[in-house]
Amino acid sequence: MSLTIGVTGGIASGKSTVARAFAELGIPWVDADDIAREVVAPGEPALAAIAERYGERVLDEAGGLNRRVLREIVFADPEERRWLEAQTHPRIRERLEARLAEMAAGPAPYHLLVSPLLFESGQAALVDRCLVIDVPETEQLRRTASRDGVDERQARAIVAAQLDRQARLARADDIIDNSGDEAALAGQIEALDRRYRRLAETSR
Ligand code: ADP
Repeated sequence: MSLTIGVTGGIASGKSTVARAFAELGIPWVDADDIAREVVAPGEPALAAIAERYGERVLDEAGGLNRRVLREIVFADPEERRWLEAQTHPRIRERLEARLAEMAAGPAPYHLLVSPLLFESGQAALVDRCLVIDVPETEQLRRTASRDGVDERQARAIVAAQLDRQARLARADDIIDNSGDEAALAGQIEALDRRYRRLAETSR
């Protein structure tokens, strides 16, 4: 059995960047955000439920989900956020478990579940260890604004809706400090890769 490492961190902490670096070392991964997009793709029951509740404004011209509009609705109202999560989380969980089972049966010594909501959604129960990517909030806001083209107010609202930095760090088995440059990040990933290969070896 291959070891399952959960990778999490706030928005723009570097989760995708970290996953790509592990992939270069031959490590497979599944991204909970990709699965979350799959369950609201056209033809999926969750998208039909969302469109029924909020109407045409949450759909784009092609009948897909207008994520920006939906995000505004649920960030403005915790009740709506809970409703949306009740629609999507069980479906995301089911698909995630299927992907993890596939990777666990494969040849890689370990594999990753990359999820911004690893702790908040209970997905931590699906992994053997939690790797938290940590960046100072100012850097997180700067990278969010520059990557997603959102203004500072929106970036702050997104960050505020997530688990706070200390709560996340308290639950970490391993931590990546991604406040430095890409070279500093690569060194930490190589060290973790060696540690995870050793752990996978001894847990066999
Ligand atoms: P996440 O998946 O956690 O939202 P990303 O991996 O997309 O975060 O990273 C957010 C942004 O920050 C991206 O534009 C990425 O290129 C950049 N980034 C990530 N790590 C670093 C780093 N160490 N130095 C500079 N920019 C970085």
